[in-house]
Amino acid sequence: MTKEELIQPVSSLHQDPLSGLVSRIGLESYLETYYKLSPEKKLTLMVVELSRFGSVNESMGAELGNKIIKTISRRLIKIFSDATLIARTHCNHFCLIFDNEINIDEKVELLNDFTQRPLALGGEVIVLTVCTGVAELGALIDSSAHLLHAAEVALHRAKRDGLKHCFYQSHFVSDAKAVHQLENDLRVSLVTNHAELHQAIINDEFKIAYQPIVDAGSHQVHALEALMRWHHPKRGIISPALFIPMAEQIQLMDVLGSWIIRRACMDTISFPANRDGSRPGVSINVSGTQFLNPEILMHSVQQALNESGIEPHRLKLEITESTAFGMKQIDIVNKLRNMGCMIALDDFGTGFSSLTQLIAMPIDYLKLDTSFIRAIGSENSQEDLRSNKLTRAVLSIAKEFNFKPVVEGVETAIQCERLTEYGASLMQGYYFSKPLPLEEACKFIVEFNNQQR
Ligand code: C2E
Ligand code: CA
Ligand code: CA
Repeated sequence: MTKEELIQPVSSLHQDPLSGLVSRIGLESYLETYYKLSPEKKLTLMVVELSRFGSVNESMGAELGNKIIKTISRRLIKIFSDATLIARTHCNHFCLIFDNEINIDEKVELLNDFTQRPLALGGEVIVLTVCTGVAELGALIDSSAHLLHAAEVALHRAKRDGLKHCFYQSHFVSDAKAVHQLENDLRVSLVTNHAELHQAIINDEFKIAYQPIVDAGSHQVHALEALMRWHHPKRGIISPALFIPMAEQIQLMDVLGSWIIRRACMDTISFPANRDGSRPGVSINVSGTQFLNPEILMHSVQQALNESGIEPHRLKLEITESTAFGMKQIDIVNKLRNMGCMIALDDFGTGFSSLTQLIAMPIDYLKLDTSFIRAIGSENSQEDLRSNKLTRAVLSIAKEFNFKPVVEGVETAIQCERLTEYGASLMQGYYFSKPLPLEEACKFIVEFNNQQR
């Protein structure tokens, strides 16, 4: 059975005009026909998402975005010549179908490998990352209609958990429904009643958890990252990953952003000093939407510095790649640096990193996403080797351009050891400490300093 035989009649609806690959409709029709003809046969579907593709289109233009899609499509066809079908089902989603026995780990490995090779397009060097959801027709999924959905649910789970790929499991759907319900309730309640969020601030429902960023070399605490939590009276603790995107959408992020800047700077006054007398700083996440109203952002920063009296260099503002790249944003970043604050580029490595743009950024710290180091010390020696090589390469870029590297998500002693060996001393992660309430974070500073042998 060939793909041409299955996708009959071939119409323009079955083809994606940009990539020339099969379209979503074509893929759905293939799955339906396939299942009708051979319901007992195995079929594996992989949904691959190019991370943060939207931001590339915005910052570098749709023309470059289209070139990337075409190049990736060609590469997929070449590398996965054994795939039964390759489709583009959404702007930045590709699907691969295999109808024979395959080694999924091998396929995922191939995918990660080929996407990590930089693309030279239109005078830019683009490094991209992908995330993959995998599902198989079989015991867990018994209809073709569910297969695509299941792979997309697995993709969503991989993204949520910061994984490169994830296999579908049956409880994902019920989990996703529960989160969706919470998200929906919260959205309805916030949209219909903007005052709820203001009221929540007044009622002290927002709390800050502080996660240490340590200097593993000197065994002192460099800074504490302020991470927001919402202790909702009815819904329990709500993760920032849920309520921050919502607050951004309904234009409430300025309010929350100003609140955390002022509160965290006041809390910073109580951070104990390190052994050498230096005082840990505070690192605060600034969302992209706060850059749309720079006067509010700059006013909050100035007010927070005045009220708390902390030295401006102790205030570090974390921004993500997608926020950082426009001229207007760079101008705002420069103004914040002129006020004496330090700037960190957060989550480096999770999206499209244009090296040309990176080196032009006025930043002080480069925060390496945990995905770089995740496989360090892994049992899979190939992954271990690649992770080590990649980490070293990024650290040398940081050094070359005078950015202080901070490595996120350090969970094991071996990761800490290797990073130290590669000359990276600023680290953050569960190996040292989870995010803590203020009082415990202050205790951590004292204890960590005392642990120095
Ligand atoms: P982020 O800035 O990348 O923060 C790091 C996240 O990684 C935190 O999740 C932290 O708890 C988690 N983490 C730290 N160490 C480890 C580790 O060793 N292993 C693993 N697996 N995870 C680790 P959290 O607190 O859930 O925050 C999620 C995201 O929400 C943050 O990601 C940040 O983007 C956003 N966020 C939190 N607070 C604020 C805020 O006040 N403003 C804005 N704009 N965003 C915020
Ligand atoms: Ca951060
Ligand atoms: Ca981060």
